[in-house]
Amino acid sequence: MDKQSDRVIVIGAGPVGLCLSLVLAQQGIRVCLIEALGDDNFLDQVPRAGTNHPATLELFDRIGLYDKLETRGIIAPLFHYWDRQEGKLIAEFDHIHLKDDTRFPYVLQCERIKIAEEALKLARAHPDIDLRLSTTLTSFAQDADSVTAFVTNSAGEIESIRGSYLVSGEGARSIIRKDLDIEFEGFTYPDRTLNLEVAYDFRKHGYTERNYISDPDEWSNLFHWKGPPDRWRVHFPTRPEETEEELSRPEQLQARLQRFLPIGRDFEIVGWNLYTVHQRVAKKFRAGRAILAGDSAHVNSPIGAMGMNSGVHDAFNLADKLVRILRGEADADELDRYERQRRHVAVQHTQAETIRNKRVLAEKDPAVRKANHDLLRRTAEDPKLARAFLLRTSLIESLREADRIP
Ligand SMILES: Cc1cc2nc3c(=O)[nH]c(=O)nc-3n(C[C@H](O)[C@H](O)[C@H](O)COP(=O)(O)OP(=O)(O)OC[C@H]3O[C@@H](n4cnc5c(N)ncnc54)[C@H](O)[C@@H]3O)c2cc1C
Repeated sequence: MDKQSDRVIVIGAGPVGLCLSLVLAQQGIRVCLIEALGDDNFLDQVPRAGTNHPATLELFDRIGLYDKLETRGIIAPLFHYWDRQEGKLIAEFDHIHLKDDTRFPYVLQCERIKIAEEALKLARAHPDIDLRLSTTLTSFAQDADSVTAFVTNSAGEIESIRGSYLVSGEGARSIIRKDLDIEFEGFTYPDRTLNLEVAYDFRKHGYTERNYISDPDEWSNLFHWKGPPDRWRVHFPTRPEETEEELSRPEQLQARLQRFLPIGRDFEIVGWNLYTVHQRVAKKFRAGRAILAGDSAHVNSPIGAMGMNSGVHDAFNLADKLVRILRGEADADELDRYERQRRHVAVQHTQAETIRNKRVLAEKDPAVRKANHDLLRRTAEDPKLARAFLLRTSLIESLREADRIP
């Protein structure tokens, strides 16, 4: 294969495309990284995902990204389950139970946009990454030996780029997945999630940096992000019939927060957005030389913070296999193992866990709620049970299980 077609074409400079590109380039594989956003608007994206689990931190460390992020985030060893009806803390989990399982027995609260910004700097500085911003993939073609991506470049011209493999890190609306006619199996919740960004320190009310709050009428998530100024993100469910216009009225947003926690004065609301939550997994992660990773392969509810984390895990798994294939140390069937491993994780861990998380927070039956809370309490109090629980919630178990899949 000539030098041009040897490179890997990666579409999307989100966390997944960036991590994949960095792993490949750092192991001597040339990459062409295509991103629709440009220097003028890359940092305008909403922050989105922000909890980085221990296993993800180990991977970030491998590519020199962890040190850049630690200073921009908050180290959070604890997370809480609260009962809003009773106004009580149900359970406190401490990642210290994972001290023998990981070098990072905590999560790092650091938003997607900061991760993308720091990883983009590393990608820009790497001589083997040909970074093309303001460039959009429109279609692609493949044959037995190569793949060609057709893009509209920053000058508005159509350009064709040839490579050995094409990886979609394009996010949930992947053109590559749609072009390949791969079904995105699953469902969409009828209720959208309201995300409010608030400048207020909730820790004075007993909350920690990461809180899951159960309530039969209005469950919540509450997360702390580093500023300046520091911000807290509060998620609320909405009713399907509520319009965006109704939901976003400032007095409605304020009233919702005051019902959650009356503080005797207005909250400073610094941002809000509304999003639709899907639980979907692509039926296949690979067709020939085109491969899906991250949100283009699977999307899920943010309860449990698994979307971006599991996407980053896809990126490292796939990159290590592509390196071996392109060095001639493995054949292309290795990519089927990528699909077996990561699709298993998406279905059996990420989907199962996030669907269960939402069910527990929104449970209406008082007896089931009590049983759920009792179980969480018992689990947090018993070090053995707490470790097993944390291995699952922090995705370490999913990685160990995937490793055992031949
Ligand atoms: C509002 C919102 C809130 C979220 N909150 C959470 C959360 O709290 N916790 C959590 O775990 N997850 C959350 N997620 C999900 C999380 O952000 C994603 O799982 C994660 O960003 C996926 O990374 P990715 O790299 O696969 O895709 P993305 O981050 O979506 O990145 C895709 C990139 O590809 C680029 N691109 C797309 N199409 C093209 C094209 N045709 N040509 C060139 N470039 C293209 C895009 O511009 C983008 O930069 C949230 C998502 C949303 C939308």
